[in-house]
Amino acid sequence: MNRTVKLVVGACCLLALPVLFAIGCGEDTKEAAHKPSPEKAVAMKPSVHEPTPHKAGPPHKPSPDEAIAMLKDGNKRFVEGKSNHPHADAARLIQAGKEDQGDHAYATVITCSDSRVPVEHIFDAGIMDIFVIRVAGNVCDVDERGSIEYGLAHVHTPVLVVLGHTQCGAVTAVTHAIHGTGHALELNIPPLVDNIEPAVRRAMANHPDVHGDKIIPYAIEENIWQGIEDLFMNSPATRNLVNSGAAKVVGAIYDVGTGKVEWLPESKVSDILVKVEANPKRAMNPMASGEGGH
Ligand SMILES: [Zn+2]
Repeated sequence: MNRTVKLVVGACCLLALPVLFAIGCGEDTKEAAHKPSPEKAVAMKPSVHEPTPHKAGPPHKPSPDEAIAMLKDGNKRFVEGKSNHPHADAARLIQAGKEDQGDHAYATVITCSDSRVPVEHIFDAGIMDIFVIRVAGNVCDVDERGSIEYGLAHVHTPVLVVLGHTQCGAVTAVTHAIHGTGHALELNIPPLVDNIEPAVRRAMANHPDVHGDKIIPYAIEENIWQGIEDLFMNSPATRNLVNSGAAKVVGAIYDVGTGKVEWLPESKVSDILVKVEANPKRAMNPMASGEGGH
């Protein structure tokens, strides 16, 4: 749908990088050709980058499972108060100014705009580590899907995390609207949160004995699955990357009171992908320029 509330972060990068690619830009691109080994990336130490001889082929990045492990380890350090605060120094800034984020960033994360969900902090990550999309309710609508496709296909992150959070105001607002206890919403909010409505209704249908606000935690989880389904339905490029093993999509819930990320079953993502691949209404053409698809 065509909505004007866009909270996608990183628009400048999105605009700038294709230009660099298109004109085969000189010095920066040459430096970016030197990529860290996967082992160095996994180590995730500040200023770890030491140029290695350029090799043909895709950037050396962690595998999807290695990237997930990095996120889990980072969140564990954060929760335990043992954050390393990696990649946050002046050297990293200089590196970021010279190199291609596609050679470094190891995860794409879409999460809510809620101020209690500071993405790099909760994964103990730093500059050029995570390609972040933030939008109220972590919905996967068209702008967010475009950003996700960019994060997976151009920044080459091996994992996408769809990260909901406890006490989500967007999910709560939709729940109250469905219960008839909501209040008037500003012009652009309904087309933003309409992606959340099927998730709330499914949570209510699956848990008929749960009433009132007690349904909200179930709806928050359903909203993550809804986002993944919306993504798979409308992003053949994402499906292809997941089917090929180049990327993984995982769901998770961040607890704003403890800092802990609860990782949801990967098998559920696989189930959604199988369901979408059997749906004749799924988009088929991965590229914007081709025919067919929608
Ligand atoms: Zn939220």
